[in-house]
Amino acid sequence: MKVSFKQEIVKYSKLLDKKGLVNTLEGNISIYDPNEDLLYITPTRKRKADLKEEMVAVLKNDKQIDGEVKRSSEYLLHQAAIEARPDCRAVVHSHAPFLTAYAYCNKSIEINCSTSFLLAINKIPCLPYGQPGTLEICNGLSDALKESNIVLLGNHGVICVEKDMESCAALIETAEEVIKTYFIATKIGIPVDIPEKEIEILKMKYSASKDKNNNIK
Ligand SMILES: [Zn+2]
Repeated sequence: MKVSFKQEIVKYSKLLDKKGLVNTLEGNISIYDPNEDLLYITPTRKRKADLKEEMVAVLKNDKQIDGEVKRSSEYLLHQAAIEARPDCRAVVHSHAPFLTAYAYCNKSIEINCSTSFLLAINKIPCLPYGQPGTLEICNGLSDALKESNIVLLGNHGVICVEKDMESCAALIETAEEVIKTYFIATKIGIPVDIPEKEIEILKMKYSASKDKNNNIK
């Protein structure tokens, strides 16, 4: 049975809530349907764990055409992300604690001590502060999302884009876990960088196996 976009929003809202990556007031997720030009997005001020299909807001040309609850006030951010990356259909905006701590410090993240970070993420740029709920928050987003699928929003949170919601949820989970572990590592000692030559080999092997997997399909 084909899962509807509403069902997917409900499923991943619950999952990300369970993981502490979204909650009632913080974070929102969306899926763009290019065939119908519709944006499916979580509603405002509803606990994501209790979300129901009929609460999912559906937007067409900025106007809400379906859903019992008003769309998230951060829909402009989601629209800007989809416009910046037409190859992506899913957006997660989160106030994930460890990633957001970097956003509070207006600090981009580039670390060479984690194989997961090097392979799945590589770099997390940080944008300067912009007023939430306005287009100001999207300043620089387009360029940053061309550099990385995951970007910090200064003094606010994080946004990530992917081809589908499953990959998008996986990316935010991985990024938050890696940065949490990195933070713990800095309390134990000084995280050791993987030698540059090893990083090159690692990336080469990973992209070769990725190409192989893509061919299997
Ligand atoms: Zn936010």
